[in-house]
Amino acid sequence: MKVEFYGHVRQYHNLKKEIDANIQEVIESGQYVLGPMLKRFEGEFAAYSGTKYAIGLANGTDAIWLALMALGIGPGDECITNANTFFATAEAVWIAGATAVLIDCDPKTKCIDPAKIEAAITPKTKAIIPVHLYGQCADMKAIRAIADKHKLFVIEDNAQAIGAAGNGFKIGELSDATATSFIIQKNLGTFGDSGALVTNNPDIDAKVRKLRNHGSTARNVHSFGFNSRLDDIHAGILSAKLKVIDKGNDSRRRLADRYTAGLKGAKHFTLPYVVPGARHVFHLYVLDTKVASKRDGFLKFLNDGGIDAKTHYSIAIHKQEGYPWGKNSREVGTLTNAEYNAASCISLPMFPELRDDEVDAVIAKVLEWDKLQG
Ligand SMILES: *Cc1c(COP(=O)(O)O)cnc(C)c1O
Repeated sequence: MKVEFYGHVRQYHNLKKEIDANIQEVIESGQYVLGPMLKRFEGEFAAYSGTKYAIGLANGTDAIWLALMALGIGPGDECITNANTFFATAEAVWIAGATAVLIDCDPKTKCIDPAKIEAAITPKTKAIIPVHLYGQCADMKAIRAIADKHKLFVIEDNAQAIGAAGNGFKIGELSDATATSFIIQKNLGTFGDSGALVTNNPDIDAKVRKLRNHGSTARNVHSFGFNSRLDDIHAGILSAKLKVIDKGNDSRRRLADRYTAGLKGAKHFTLPYVVPGARHVFHLYVLDTKVASKRDGFLKFLNDGGIDAKTHYSIAIHKQEGYPWGKNSREVGTLTNAEYNAASCISLPMFPELRDDEVDAVIAKVLEWDKLQG
């Protein structure tokens, strides 16, 4: 049996009526940029996020660096994040002209290790950017406490965890702003690119709203800015999909439980760790192959067997060729956990429409490999 990694088209077929109706509504309205559908989606997304404001943007990377820019963070300033994230987290810091300070992750959650943050703080530090990696929240309570002590901003990179929650906190509740991505493969994804920033801070909202539209607040009136708008057609698609995001995440959680139950007896893997009391939304179901040198062989075994597994991410940021390309960056402490994760992680197929028989086929393949390892 062939098992795909993503189920974009399956999801579209399930929601075709709603999605097509919203696209049609936008086309017939004649308003495609900063129009009524964008306004509607921004209202819906702010309500869903439990924040006062949501600003639709062109993508998730822009959401991070426009937030930094709105906070006045730029050249000479430092932002702390973990070395084992998707590249865009650090990239956004560089686009803002600031210095990316990379620290290690927690070995279990793979999110930033709060215990390593204080050693990275200098008088130049302005912000911490925790990433809710794979669909699980970073330890925001600990991060907020450190930020308060040192008077730092916190910007959550929530590209992977819409609908997740921590143990006793919500995403967006303990930060200054939260960036998200709606590229198709994310838990809430459009047919293309887009993103958003959510915040409770009216000043950040006003600044980012202006920055995304050529620094304009009225026709022909400009101050410095960019073009980073979320198109109304995408807003319509996202509005339809937002209605079922919790259902989709519940499905991911159920499928993750099925993987975990099926793979419990495997000797050669560590299964994903879930923080007790937290809601993990399994953007990715990531296995740790324990022996890093075996990871690539295992990936090939699965791919050859028709299972579209992938790695997220097999090269830590500071190990990318040419790093840091003349940008300002530094690493603090050893990045052992981040490097180990890059070498040993495998993501199994995961999307809400994945069928039980497909999960079982993946489990069977993984167990076959497990047995071959003795
Ligand atoms: C996807 C992603 C981004 C970037 O989002 P884009 O919309 O592709 O710009 C940033 N951070 C993380 C952790 C991501 O997974």
